[in-house]
Amino acid sequence: MTKRGLLIVVSGFAGCGKGTLMKRLIEEYEEYALSVSMTTRLPRPGEVHGREYFFVSREKFEQEIETDGLIEYATYVENYYGTPKAYVEEQRSAGKNVVLEIEVQGALKVKERFPDAVLVFVLPPNAEELYKRLKNRGTETEDVIRKRMRRAAEEVDVIEKYDYILINDEVEEGVRKLHSLIEAARSMPGRNEELIEAIRDGLSRL
Ligand code: 5GP
Repeated sequence: MTKRGLLIVVSGFAGCGKGTLMKRLIEEYEEYALSVSMTTRLPRPGEVHGREYFFVSREKFEQEIETDGLIEYATYVENYYGTPKAYVEEQRSAGKNVVLEIEVQGALKVKERFPDAVLVFVLPPNAEELYKRLKNRGTETEDVIRKRMRRAAEEVDVIEKYDYILINDEVEEGVRKLHSLIEAARSMPGRNEELIEAIRDGLSRL
């Protein structure tokens, strides 16, 4: 029987580099699948429907909420964001570790609904770096950047509810760190009850 994959939630301030980190993680290790969220935000240049997000209208999003098609959803700087349920289920059943890259409200909802989920918070080396990265991205207006920075200041308060923090300085190093902490989480006794039981069983028969 295939071992069911873990649910991994990665959050971090806008501009902390978590998007790049996720992309590299998926490219480098085949045991991960990245969930594609649904949002009412408009695509940024270069973003593709079905790859970065499923870009939908508010009506469509609200319909998904009503029909329980989402694992969780939240509003972030005036838009809805949510995780479609079907893909996550399908991939976990196939043994993949599914990564959700979502903000903190949604992350805490996932933890409530799936206590076994592993929550990782990605931090930039320092606050100045965050502002610099957001500015350099050049895709948001100054007003939106300010709102996102304000939101970051609020999100700091819930970091302690996460299982791990990851300082994202250099991408390749960040990917290795992320993979090894997921491995560590997978190796906890509570996530290996079947294996422990089988060994116990084997020993009792010797
Ligand atoms: P962005 O607009 O920069 O792509 O994303 C804004 C924020 O929404 C980020 O913190 C991102 O992690 C979060 N986000 C993306 N998808 C989801 C989702 O499905 N659910 C929730 N709760 N947050 C999401």
